[in-house]
Amino acid sequence: MIFKDILVTCGAVDNTARKEYNPPMSEIVQKENKVLRKIAEPVADAVSAVTKTAIKKMAEALFKEPDGIGIAAPQIGISQKIFLVAQEVIDEQPLEKMSGAYETFINPVFKKVSIKKSKDTEGCLSVRGIYGEVARPEKVVVEYTDKNGKRQSRGASGLFARVLQHEMDHLDGVLFIDKAKYINKK
Ligand SMILES: [Zn+2]
Repeated sequence: MIFKDILVTCGAVDNTARKEYNPPMSEIVQKENKVLRKIAEPVADAVSAVTKTAIKKMAEALFKEPDGIGIAAPQIGISQKIFLVAQEVIDEQPLEKMSGAYETFINPVFKKVSIKKSKDTEGCLSVRGIYGEVARPEKVVVEYTDKNGKRQSRGASGLFARVLQHEMDHLDGVLFIDKAKYINKK
């Protein structure tokens, strides 16, 4: 159980008490915030200035803390189908020191998910201090629009597949605590 490997978002200010719908961008919203329970809207223009600004703010929030390895737009109060995954996760590199590089996934959909599942411990800095074991398909094929507006498809396994599914859940208003067993409060 390596928390560093499974923390799939990151945060700065603990805003658990906040109930506002729109926090200042790049601040991570906490689980009570309704935006985390909405189904995110498809992105109409992947290369618009608005989308680029949202991605930039997401990256800022993601890399504010060294444990961040992925973030979904609703986590900074933007209900749009966008998430980012740290490049080290995709390249299966050590996570101790993040370069700040990431891949952008816009309007993602899973084209395939494996029948075989694996279990691992997850955390989420929109759900601070709680970790739980989640069973998820071991492999997925995701189709998405990249930051240049080009539709892409790629396969993923291991931690990358897990992060993709955790982030995709955020776009569907689902949090890992909805699925986790053996939830521990740290
Ligand atoms: Zn999360």
